[in-house]
Amino acid sequence: MKGYVDKSACIGCGMCVDTAPDAFRIGEDGLAEGYQEIPADKVDDAKEAAENCPVGAIEVK
Ligand code: SF4
Repeated sequence: MKGYVDKSACIGCGMCVDTAPDAFRIGEDGLAEGYQEIPADKVDDAKEAAENCPVGAIEVK
């Protein structure tokens, strides 16, 4: 599974990176991005980040 961020919605708050650093990072544009296949034991963290994103910009699939 991988995380996908709608960059047109992301406000760069960094919360998803704090919650799931194995799925998300802040890119050079200051916005979050999914950057790798999420390790199996970190998928729940990524899903939590998606649920808590203040602008609903994250999909994990
Ligand atoms: S939690 Fe949402 S708004 Fe905040 S950096 Fe991540 S994707 Fe962007």
